[in-house]
Amino acid sequence: MRFCLLILLLGSLFVISDGRVAAQDTASQPPAMVVQPGDTWAALALRFSVDAAELQQLNSHMNRRREPTIGRAITLPPDANSRPGLLIRSGDGGLVQTAAANRLSPWTMAALNGLASPYRPSFHRPLYLPADDLIRDLPPGMTSLELSMMPAVTGQALGLRGTTRTEQPTITAQLDGLPIAFATTGNRFAGVVGTGAFYTGGEPELVMRVGDNPAWSQPWAFDEREWEYQELTLTGEAAQIDQQARDEERARLRELWTKITPAPLWDAAFQTPIADVLQVTANYGARRSYNGGPYLSYHEGVDFSAYGGTPVFAPAAGTVVLAEPLYVRGGAVIIDHGLGIYSGYYHLSAVHATAGQTVRPGDLLGEVGTTGLSTGNHLHWDLLSNGIWVDAAAWQAQDLACWLLAGLGAECSPAAATE
Ligand SMILES: [Zn+2]
Repeated sequence: MRFCLLILLLGSLFVISDGRVAAQDTASQPPAMVVQPGDTWAALALRFSVDAAELQQLNSHMNRRREPTIGRAITLPPDANSRPGLLIRSGDGGLVQTAAANRLSPWTMAALNGLASPYRPSFHRPLYLPADDLIRDLPPGMTSLELSMMPAVTGQALGLRGTTRTEQPTITAQLDGLPIAFATTGNRFAGVVGTGAFYTGGEPELVMRVGDNPAWSQPWAFDEREWEYQELTLTGEAAQIDQQARDEERARLRELWTKITPAPLWDAAFQTPIADVLQVTANYGARRSYNGGPYLSYHEGVDFSAYGGTPVFAPAAGTVVLAEPLYVRGGAVIIDHGLGIYSGYYHLSAVHATAGQTVRPGDLLGEVGTTGLSTGNHLHWDLLSNGIWVDAAAWQAQDLACWLLAGLGAECSPAAATE
C-alpha cells in the first residue's frame, strides 16, 4: 500500500497534466501553468476550486481587467488541484434551468456552486457542473479551440482550429482588429491570420464569435523576434524609382491579395519553389535602409539567388491570378491558394503560367531572371495571409498548411524530402 502511495505521489509530481508545469521543488516553487485558450479567470477558479480574486492577486503581472494571456505562465495557489467539470455561462440558462437540463436537483446544483439557495439570483456568475471535461471557458457555441503558436511570433501566419456545437458554423474573429479567414467542414473549422514584420505584438485581444452567440475574447501573447538589418545602396535606374508606378502596382496587387477564396485549395505541405539555389540572399522581415536613410521598410519575401533560367515551381496547389510583367516585380506570377493565402514569384526572365490556370505542386511557373527593379538573377518569393506579408519559411517549418487541413479533417501529404 505504501509503495502504491509513493508511485501516486511521484506521478503527481512529475506528470504534466492539464497544461500544468511540473514544479521541480514543490516546497518553494508554487505550481504554474501556461494559459491556454479558454483559461479565463472564471474557468481557472472553477477548475482549481479557488477564488478568482485570489488567482488575480497571485498574478499581479497580469491585467485583471482582461482575461489571462494565452501563452503566458500563470501561478496557481500552492494547494491547487484540478477537478473536471463544465463551466456554464448564465447565457446558457439560469441555475434552475441548467439543473433541470442536467437532471440535477436545483438544490444539488446550488450546493455544488457554494450557494445557499437555488432561488437567489446569481447574475453573471458562471456555474459549475460535474462532468469529465477539462473546465474551459471557450467562445459560446465552440467545443474546442487550438492555436498554432503559444506565444505567437510577429511576422508569421498563425492558425486557429477547433470544433463547434453546430454544423457549418459562421465564425467571425479578429486578432487586434485584423480579420481572420475561416473554412468549415461539418462542425470543424480552421482559420488563419497574419501579422506583418512591423507588427508591434504585445498581448493583443483575440475576439471570436460563433453565429449569433455572444462574442468572446482573450489576449494572446506575442514574443519579440530578432530581425536582420540591411543597408542598401541604390544607383542608376534603381535609384530613380517611379514612385507613382510603384504605388499603382501595389494598389492593384492589394486588390488581388485581399480577395478571399473561402476554402484551402492546397492538399499538401508547401514545397520550396526552387531547387537549384546558390544561396538565400535576403530573408523575410529584414529591415532595410536605402542610401543611408532610416529603416522604414522590410523585405517582404525570401530572395534565392540562382542562375538565370533556373526553373521556378508551384509550391502547392492553387489558381494563378496574375502572370505578366510588372514595373517593380518584373516577370511575375501570383497564386491564390485559398483561405486568404497567396504566393508570389518575381523578377522572372520568362513566365510559363497564365492567369486563371489551376496549378499542382511542382508545375512550372517560370524561370529565374533579373527583370523589374532587381540587381541580379534571383527569385523573390513572398507569401501573404489576408493581404499581409508573412514569413514563408516559418509557414513551411511549422507545416501550417497541413495543420490547418488536419483541423478540417482533411488529408494532407507531408513535405517531400528536399536535397
Ligand atoms: Zn526580394
